[in-house]
Amino acid sequence: MTATLPPLAPAWERVDFLAELERREVRVPWNRARFSVRCPLPDHEDRTPSCSMSLVNGKWLVKCFGCDFSGDGIDLLAALDGMTSAEWCRIRASREAPLPVPVPARPRPPEPAFRPLCTPEELAGYLDACHQALLSGNDSAAARRYLRDRGLTDGAEIRAWRLGFGVSTKLPKLWCMQGRLVFPCPGGVEARAIDDAQPKYLAANLLTERKLPFALDQVDPERGPLAIVEGAFDAIALHRAEVQAIAVRGKPLASEAAARLRERGFTSGYISLDPDAERQAVLEVGRTLVRAGIAPYWVRGPQGVKDWGEVLTRSDEELLGAVAEGLVLR
Ligand SMILES: [Zn+2]
Repeated sequence: MTATLPPLAPAWERVDFLAELERREVRVPWNRARFSVRCPLPDHEDRTPSCSMSLVNGKWLVKCFGCDFSGDGIDLLAALDGMTSAEWCRIRASREAPLPVPVPARPRPPEPAFRPLCTPEELAGYLDACHQALLSGNDSAAARRYLRDRGLTDGAEIRAWRLGFGVSTKLPKLWCMQGRLVFPCPGGVEARAIDDAQPKYLAANLLTERKLPFALDQVDPERGPLAIVEGAFDAIALHRAEVQAIAVRGKPLASEAAARLRERGFTSGYISLDPDAERQAVLEVGRTLVRAGIAPYWVRGPQGVKDWGEVLTRSDEELLGAVAEGLVLR
């Protein structure tokens, strides 16, 4: 069974008949409403101009006195194109079909605006208290020991990063950081268990909507290139080797973070996530950088250790060697 579409009415107002003939190498006078030419039909070897064309009520009529072809201009064009007039009209109509008109999207209710959960001063006060607790608290000895085991033996480094020990607080979300190692992050914190508590890492954003990378506010393009790593310890390790790094904290790089880096003047970033990171995740960091106007490069990553953080336990010489070996373009 063949479904036949009804032939469409020839849309004469949209067919420039003379131009169509020109396009088919048929020379015609363009400024006259009636003329005769040699019959353009391929089967008619016309020696004299026996094909008459005349414009009648906006429509060209064609009559060949040699081969007896008779019809309107569209019939002639269809015959020249080797198809029926109905086919010709259908093809033309489909070619001219207007593009689908975009349906205006229904206005969506505005996304609820992000509301900070505390003031910047309140967060800073909490972080100060945590920092003091880590440096000299009675109950933070285990945290200090944990840091020593991870290679953070230098008090100056701990102070520079303002690492802390989670204290009790009335601030929302932060109460569950109590007893953990606290890493200050832009607008929030990241806190690591110092025992076997799960999850290993907890995050809380109070002043920002999304997780922003650890060390995001400590990097400056004037101090050299930027590496993008996964965890806070990885970033600290690279900084020890005087390579600036930010840690995405197990989440894709937030576009807001990439925008901040670009604003600050970074034009390139060296991506070095953990070796077990999903390919897609690694590529996505690159895409986010590109969208912000930052060129991404992928580096080989740490060699012989599971992540950059592990080199914190090595001697300075070994650490520098590992960084020099790993920060090589892939
Ligand atoms: Zn003819």
